[in-house]
Amino acid sequence: MSDPNGKPIVIVGAGVAGLVAAIELQAAGRSVVVVDAAPEVGGRVRTTVREGLVIDHGFQVLFTAYPTLRRYLDFDRLALRKFLPAARIARDGQVSLIGDALADPGLLLDTLFARAIGVGDKLRLLALRRFAQQLSIDDCFGARFASISTRDFLTARGFGTPVIDGFFAPFYGGILLDRTLATSASILLFTFKMLADGDTVVPAGGIGALTQQMAARLVAGTVRTNCAVRALVVTNERVTGVRLHDDTELDAAQVVLATDAPAAAALARTAGLTLPEPSGARGCTTLYYTARTSPIPGKALWLNANANAVISHAVTLTDVAPEYATNGRTLIAATSVGAAADLDDATLDAAARSELAAMGKVPPAALALDRVALWRVPYSQYEQAPGWREHRPSIACGMQGLWRASEMLHSSSLEGAARGGDMAAKAILHAT
Ligand SMILES: Cc1cc2nc3c(=O)[nH]c(=O)nc-3n(C[C@H](O)[C@H](O)[C@H](O)COP(=O)(O)OP(=O)(O)OC[C@H]3O[C@@H](n4cnc5c(N)ncnc54)[C@H](O)[C@@H]3O)c2cc1C
Repeated sequence: MSDPNGKPIVIVGAGVAGLVAAIELQAAGRSVVVVDAAPEVGGRVRTTVREGLVIDHGFQVLFTAYPTLRRYLDFDRLALRKFLPAARIARDGQVSLIGDALADPGLLLDTLFARAIGVGDKLRLLALRRFAQQLSIDDCFGARFASISTRDFLTARGFGTPVIDGFFAPFYGGILLDRTLATSASILLFTFKMLADGDTVVPAGGIGALTQQMAARLVAGTVRTNCAVRALVVTNERVTGVRLHDDTELDAAQVVLATDAPAAAALARTAGLTLPEPSGARGCTTLYYTARTSPIPGKALWLNANANAVISHAVTLTDVAPEYATNGRTLIAATSVGAAADLDDATLDAAARSELAAMGKVPPAALALDRVALWRVPYSQYEQAPGWREHRPSIACGMQGLWRASEMLHSSSLEGAARGGDMAAKAILHAT
């Protein structure tokens, strides 16, 4: 039922959560306007194409098994390019390939003979894969796993410190931007399940093609970019609109906050409301290089398992998706997480060059890398420490007319954001 006064539902934020909410609400016949402060849609899922190079705003991948997100995407039209279901672990001058031989039997021999992980731990890894795969996503997020850290969970399953620090820490550094493994075991199981149930991919046009494709499903003119919301408008204890960057007001039948958690909390405060916020943020910095020849070739993610590594993980993107660079150039993404991500540009660049050379066992002098971009995303994911789910926000924000569509409703991931948008749309359709 559309608003009798003809006012739209205003969604603040055109990331995955806001776009999914908009798609669902429009599909139900509601009038929707999406406003976003940025110059383009996508939020954390964006890409810039510059001089024939596809530069994602921070290295990021899609798991094709994400069940909610995939409902909003046409995989065929995205021309998805697959990573090898494997990781190359580089440590102290040695490189081992550890792969999911059940997903790609071609990885069996390398994985069996890899010296980075002992036989017992390889068997435990296989058992963990089976264990995660037979859980439902809801099981993964149940209290049993949500309340303990990844490190404690792995220790309880018999993994020793060498494999925890030498494999899981850099691997989950790559996925969760957290090498300390303090993140809740739910996320470990959820991602293990997603890795086992599908492929790890990027679209040929860059990760931003995901949100571009979602936005294209909306009625033309639905999204207004370069349109920051400064405050909520409250009339008789009900949210009735938003005040924009230029001080104009946009009337709304309902307002949906689909921003990241700190921005949502700041907007809610303008209406006198306090929204729960996660305790912290996980940031990362990705450096992009072109090279004549990559020191870290192949379609697998390279993990830097050395203690004190500045670069946590890296990949030759053009080996996975040749479309990421024109003219046969090679494009490499090297990502720093944790405190290292906050180092200054020159320090990060110097460390990336020497660590990429060491990982690929190439003399640094022989490495002709040209830095083409450096992306800092201080708020890439929110912290998901044990017990965080008990403090998740609700969809209704405690004042009539105000709703929340956010990754915060589920998990800090593309799937979590899609679920947040979908859940919020359903709640609004049910209530109004
Ligand atoms: C580098 C990086 C790597 C990642 N890797 C992965 C991965 O491999 N797999 C995975 O599943 N997830 C990954 N993630 C996480 C995933 O991208 C996010 O969980 C998801 O995109 C969050 O979507 P969202 O819609 O909730 O928020 P956002 O994408 O942050 O969208 C919020 C939008 O709100 C807008 N906004 C904020 N304030 C205002 C305001 N006042 N007025 C108007 N607009 C406003 C912003 O401009 C933004 O567009 C990664 C994230 C990053 C950054």
